Amino acid sequence: MNAVEIKGLTKAYGNNYALRDFSLNIPRSQVCGLIGPNGAGKTTAMSILATLLAPDAGSAAVNGHDVMSEQAKVRRLIGYMPDFFGVYDNLKTTEYLEFYAAAYRIPVSERARLISDLLELVNLTEKSHSYVDSLSRGMKQRLALSRCLVHNPEVLILDEPASGLDPRARAEMKEIIRHLKRMNKTILISSHILPELAEMCDSIAILEQGKLVTYGPVEEVTAARQGAKILKVDVADRLNELLEFMISRPEVVSVDGEAGWARVTFQGNKAAQGQLLREIMEQGWHVYEYAEVKGNLEDAFMAMTGEGE
Ligand code: ATP
Repeated sequence: MNAVEIKGLTKAYGNNYALRDFSLNIPRSQVCGLIGPNGAGKTTAMSILATLLAPDAGSAAVNGHDVMSEQAKVRRLIGYMPDFFGVYDNLKTTEYLEFYAAAYRIPVSERARLISDLLELVNLTEKSHSYVDSLSRGMKQRLALSRCLVHNPEVLILDEPASGLDPRARAEMKEIIRHLKRMNKTILISSHILPELAEMCDSIAILEQGKLVTYGPVEEVTAARQGAKILKVDVADRLNELLEFMISRPEVVSVDGEAGWARVTFQGNKAAQGQLLREIMEQGWHVYEYAEVKGNLEDAFMAMTGEGE
């Protein structure tokens, strides 16, 4: 049995379909990244999974429990971090977690230990006596994540947990999510920060206008960009000339000048890639670097959702 089984979910608001026949299975202990442009239906799908919204058609289950008919069981199994959440500003972080621990009926004798462990997990031990109000956005987000963990759920549904965070705060959030993965949690996480998702997910689902565009292991989804790869070509000089030369080659789909180097979308095999390098060198360019750029999830996303090029 998969930890999450979504079958044919459909949800419309008037004539606007937020989800259309959306299906997705996530095996236990896997991290699945849900990617899609604004309005793709990510939050709708997550809200249904979190038992907070009823679909028009289809079903969803967590560890075999139906989100509609077994809400209480599902709520015990999941930790849901919504994209917008309120925090109670007049509480200290410890009191805030106390409140949730009480709501989940964690025995009083266990709470202090639990809260201390949770604060340590999200790197907020130092802030245990600070008012929630005084925390930075990144800290508040980590606190909200710890709140979802109070009842030790098996499945986490995290709706853009890194949105609005600076690079350092995003890196911290990423580290915590990796830690949760090591704790064997099953995680469904949505984000717009695509390269970061690639680093922490086992699989990626791309949604567009409520429809699943693709779903598979990160490497497959990345490679599925019409078989194309991105090459970085760094030369000593004549970059503009190189860009013109490149675009004239049959296997080159597009070229872009980055800071001092050419970013080449290339659709050919290894032999053709080698041949292209020889041609560049024969034309007299001094090549500093000629390499495939890895982890082009962003490119895959742009290509598949039709927002790019
Ligand atoms: P974002 O990345 O912007 O958070 P999303 O992928 O989470 O977007 P949803 O919030 O699920 O997308 O929205 C999907 C579609 O459903 C959008 O067109 C949105 O306008 C619509 N929608 C969502 N909630 C409602 C609602 N309560 N009433 C009417 N339309 C809604």
